[in-house]
Amino acid sequence: MIDLLLRAANILSPVENAVNYTHAQDILIEGNRISAVLPTGQADPAQARQVIDAGGMIALPGLINTHCHTAMVLFRGLADDVSVDRWFNEFIWPFESNLTPEDVYWGTLLGLAEMIEAGVTTVADHYFYMDEVARAIDQAGTRGLLAWAVFSAGVPEPEKKLNETLEWIERWQGSADGRITTWLGPHAPYTCSEEFLNTVSATARRAKVGIHIHVSETQAQVEMSLKQHGRTPIALLRDAGVFESPTLLAHAAHPTPDDIQIMVKAEAGVAHCPKTYLKLASGVMNVVEVRNAGVNIGIGTDGAASNSSYDILEQTRLAALMQKHQHVNAQALPINDALHMMMTGGAKALRMPDLGAIAAGKLADVILLRTDSARMQPLINPAANVLYSAQAGDVDTVICNGKVLLQERQLLTLDKQAIVREVQSRLHRLSQRIPGQRIQTYPT
Ligand SMILES: [Zn+2]
Repeated sequence: MIDLLLRAANILSPVENAVNYTHAQDILIEGNRISAVLPTGQADPAQARQVIDAGGMIALPGLINTHCHTAMVLFRGLADDVSVDRWFNEFIWPFESNLTPEDVYWGTLLGLAEMIEAGVTTVADHYFYMDEVARAIDQAGTRGLLAWAVFSAGVPEPEKKLNETLEWIERWQGSADGRITTWLGPHAPYTCSEEFLNTVSATARRAKVGIHIHVSETQAQVEMSLKQHGRTPIALLRDAGVFESPTLLAHAAHPTPDDIQIMVKAEAGVAHCPKTYLKLASGVMNVVEVRNAGVNIGIGTDGAASNSSYDILEQTRLAALMQKHQHVNAQALPINDALHMMMTGGAKALRMPDLGAIAAGKLADVILLRTDSARMQPLINPAANVLYSAQAGDVDTVICNGKVLLQERQLLTLDKQAIVREVQSRLHRLSQRIPGQRIQTYPT
């Protein structure tokens, strides 16, 4: 028996070095996996428990956000057009240090609602109060690679916090029908001492989990590390043993040639978040060079306080456009490469090889994109339309792990109005806890 049949979809999915468009296909889903992809007409709809007519729509593998702090939607619009220093010191840290676990839960729900509406089915989330994040992921029905952020700078007993993180890993690893994976999340080389990074690395090896960490986000961080440690932040991670476990590097935007070789050798995944770099004016990685060297790069957003949205289609478009601009070359990061980064790049970076493509045996994370908006016509090159024209609002249907989360743009697992109301009242209370800061939200 077929659990879910997506009828007559036009599939855009990666193969080897290309992205293939196949017209009028039925996608058969049994349990949480795609059991077959057949030309329309070969599968019997009467044999399916649920049928969704995907005629005229483009099916893509569920989108993957390789780096986010989902609950930071709470701070969307709080600190725009300010320098990185002011962004952290005057806005983000005072507000974050006053967050409660429940604030993080409701913020994460709002961020996940936005992601589902934008076709994002998997997020690599790096934050704190991660029990609340896991609870929100479980409820939303999406997939999460979760990491609890830990620091040593200014923390009296960082190992204690690390041990609590291990208990959290045990509580949630493989939960929510296998949708939740838990890793360690040291914040960054500039907030974690080398000794602490060594401890984290040894702990990851013992617990057999990966490590998700920020690194080399700005050139200033690289220069500070060279001055203080005589090594780049990426070399420091290597020396601390971080790469002996699966590693997801947020940013790595300013690598030296040696850093690139370290990342290739380590098979590290990189989360590239171009809109955040553009907004914070922190410099954009030379993706063409780093990719050509063999580093695997996926697309991420970072938190909404810097990015303002969790739209992976938008980030992928910016990634492609920025490379063309940077290299003064219209052929830089062409459609196939950009879409590969969005699909297979994300799956590899998160060490989830069963994601990122629509094919028999893959996990059933599939989204359907409408093509009836004027901006999506004509369909001379559907891949070009997806990369350069499609918007999050074109996402009609979202399936994750075989379950429908969005249908005809209606969220099925989350009550958006209730979430927005709760977030607004929490923001009001939160701002009262911080002297000199008042958040005023406009009514919707
Ligand atoms: Zn980040």
